[in-house]
Amino acid sequence: MLKIEHLGIAVKNLDEAISTYEQLLNTPCYKTEAVESEGVNTAFFQTGESKIELLESTRPESPISKFIEKKGEGIHHIAFEVENIQAEMKRLAALGFTILNEHPKKGADNKLICFLHPKNTNGVLIELCQELTTS
Ligand code: ZN
Repeated sequence: MLKIEHLGIAVKNLDEAISTYEQLLNTPCYKTEAVESEGVNTAFFQTGESKIELLESTRPESPISKFIEKKGEGIHHIAFEVENIQAEMKRLAALGFTILNEHPKKGADNKLICFLHPKNTNGVLIELCQELTTS
């Protein structure tokens, strides 16, 4: 794993959270993006090498809705950047980690992503992401 690429934070109201994090980080949100397949609106901030991803649900049955219902707002996942997501998925599956996606999928911010089940990672939802090369 190369680095912590971003932390995902589940929020109830994206606009309010964006202005809070703009004040906190003293930097403007550089991108907002809807990920229809996940039922989320996202907003990104750059903080040095890493990013903050704010996640707001767009429908009641989305994973973010369920998360907020159960645990309230807060840190939702940690994303690690990897060089080769397929290879990492294979490596971790062989070690007994539960990969929640059979194949990497297209996530926000031009990434291929997959998630690991928190039951094998001490309660933390882990995202792997690989930058899609734009050619
Ligand atoms: Zn993420």
